[in-house]
Amino acid sequence: MKRILITGGAGFLGSHLCDRFVKEGFHVIAMDNLITGDLRNIEHLFKLPNFEFYHHDVSKFIHVPGQLDYILHFASPASPIDYLKIPIQTLKVGSLGIHNCLGLARVKGARVLIASTSEVYGDPLVHPQTEEYWGHVNPVGPRGVYDEAKRFQEAMTMAYHTYHGLETRIIRIFNTYGPRMRLNDGRVLPAFIGQALRGEDITIFGDGSQTRSFCYVDDLVEGIYRLLMSDYAQPVNIGNPSEITIKDFAEEIIKLTGTTQKVVYLDLPKDDPKQRQPDITKAKEILGWEPKVDRAEGLKITYDYFRNLPKERLFDEAIHREF
Ligand code: UDP
Repeated sequence: MKRILITGGAGFLGSHLCDRFVKEGFHVIAMDNLITGDLRNIEHLFKLPNFEFYHHDVSKFIHVPGQLDYILHFASPASPIDYLKIPIQTLKVGSLGIHNCLGLARVKGARVLIASTSEVYGDPLVHPQTEEYWGHVNPVGPRGVYDEAKRFQEAMTMAYHTYHGLETRIIRIFNTYGPRMRLNDGRVLPAFIGQALRGEDITIFGDGSQTRSFCYVDDLVEGIYRLLMSDYAQPVNIGNPSEITIKDFAEEIIKLTGTTQKVVYLDLPKDDPKQRQPDITKAKEILGWEPKVDRAEGLKITYDYFRNLPKERLFDEAIHREF
């Protein structure tokens, strides 16, 4: 049985990856320090013999006994609110955390896939973004802690690949949504749906003309699986190229939820990217991957998940655990 370590395994993406690899017959070891992760995302897996959970901070030395075939490094705060609240941890998990993962991979002879992000492109001057674009990032702006951590993580991973011959994979993830996002982590989809469910006004930042391209989580997980099993070590964009302005996105959520609250316009956060859309030519050619779930379908599944949560969870804190 192949054994895989998934850091950030209790988070939004990490927990969906745990599900997928358990289903594929792997022995899955999820690791999480639970700063932003949530055990409720993986509690259904605890009874399985091929699932283990380690409560551990990946920025500290990692010990995993026995054979390890794959490591997925998905531990990191991933929303602007989170990484503004815990900037140092964000930098540490992208630097010390990946160093520990790569060291562990060398000892075990494991293949490593790291979660990078469209944020490496910053506020992009090239549209749509191809993997060849180097980005437009402000290292000392509020997003710098996340963007630069992820850029360092890519550099470190590539160095282990070229210098040590380690098998590595780099995925650049564009905005992704689905069940198990944290309602109050500040990201736009849980923000809008949470506001609709609590009966609050819908908050659009800026004039809402900025664009994003939203990928449903199952599509993303399929892309990750294919990249991990491929032999391609350069970065690959995975995302849904269907681009929409935040204003139009708000309209879609208002229609879906039937909220009668009004829309309010707030200041645009500093360095908020104006537009973002993945060029997925590489993913199509190398992995034979493209997204299958359109926004209407994905949003419906996601809304059903949120509205069936216990009411008190609508008021979860943005970061709800001590650290
Ligand atoms: N946004 C918004 N209202 C909110 C939360 C976010 O208009 O209540 C905007 C935000 O300014 C950004 C977009 O939605 O332009 C996506 O934000 P998110 O934090 O989800 O992700 P990112 O900016 O990292 O793509």
